[in-house]
Amino acid sequence: RAKELGGRRVEVFAAHMHADVVRRLEIAADLQRALLDNQFAVEYQPVVDLATSRVTAVEALVRWWRGNTFVPPEQFLGPAEDTGLIVPLSEWILREACNEVAAWRASSLDIGLSLNLSLRQITAPRFVETVSQALAESGLPASALTLEVIEEMLVEDAEDTINKLSQLRALGVRLAIDDFGTGYASLAFLRQLPVDMIKIDPSFVSGLGRDETLTLLTRTIVRLGHDLGLIVVAEGIERPEQLELLREMGCTRGQGYLVGRPMAARGVDSLMRTPLQNTA
Ligand code: C2E
Ligand code: MG
Ligand code: MG
Ligand code: MG
Repeated sequence: RAKELGGRRVEVFAAHMHADVVRRLEIAADLQRALLDNQFAVEYQPVVDLATSRVTAVEALVRWWRGNTFVPPEQFLGPAEDTGLIVPLSEWILREACNEVAAWRASSLDIGLSLNLSLRQITAPRFVETVSQALAESGLPASALTLEVIEEMLVEDAEDTINKLSQLRALGVRLAIDDFGTGYASLAFLRQLPVDMIKIDPSFVSGLGRDETLTLLTRTIVRLGHDLGLIVVAEGIERPEQLELLREMGCTRGQGYLVGRPMAARGVDSLMRTPLQNTA
């Protein structure tokens, strides 16, 4: 009987696996067409300076509407990475976002752009040239661009990755560690890569004021960042209490639904011209 149950459990597990594999294959097959059909869009989430409440940057976040269905990035970025389509997709996001932010800057909005990188994008042969070309063609100054990486990216091809990111930094581009604190080697990463910024993962920020350990860890990360001369950004701010504590800790910048949701390009322009509601 135990054997029978065990066997059934394996079957259920296999069925789940199967559904997941099928979904990934379907997504992979659709990605190529989606790219050709312009089904992707970029949304922008404001990042505010916590001391002044001023929007200092926007983070570009890719969006895919597959027909009427929204597919979250976490569902298609993996298949895009596996098929290599992440390379042309990321290049499109890079150009689109650089052009849009350069246009806002031209209309005298003094903001920067933060972009998420994928590992395959970095290891692609012309990565450094592609980024500098996008800057040159859009007119966006290198110092207005921040590239976000996660620790996992330094596991494979670490030397190539560090080398390319360092080349871009030498051009004036800023580097950020995204989801800081969740990887297995946050501190080692800081030693290997010349970064300007750390972004504290929402799993810490969520516990602010509610969980003593998470509050203490957040405070420690903020202090560590400052001691190293880094800009510290808190992600996933949803409650006023979190904002208050982060300000008190001296965290540099904040991002989250309370401060502003990711929005289409036209939303950014009007947001920037009216003061933020929730952060005063
Ligand atoms: P991330 O870079 O850490 O981006 C932050 C994610 O948190 C975004 O999810 C954003 O919509 C969400 N978020 C922001 N504020 C809040 C909040 O207050 N509460 C909660 N619950 N969530 C919040 P999104 O857009 O689904 O992106 C997920 C991840 O996908 C990103 O995490 C990033 O790793 C990746 N990603 C997104 N766009 C791109 C892209 O253009 N290229 C690459 N390579 N990766 C991307
Ligand atoms: Mg990010
Ligand atoms: Mg993050
Ligand atoms: Mg993330």
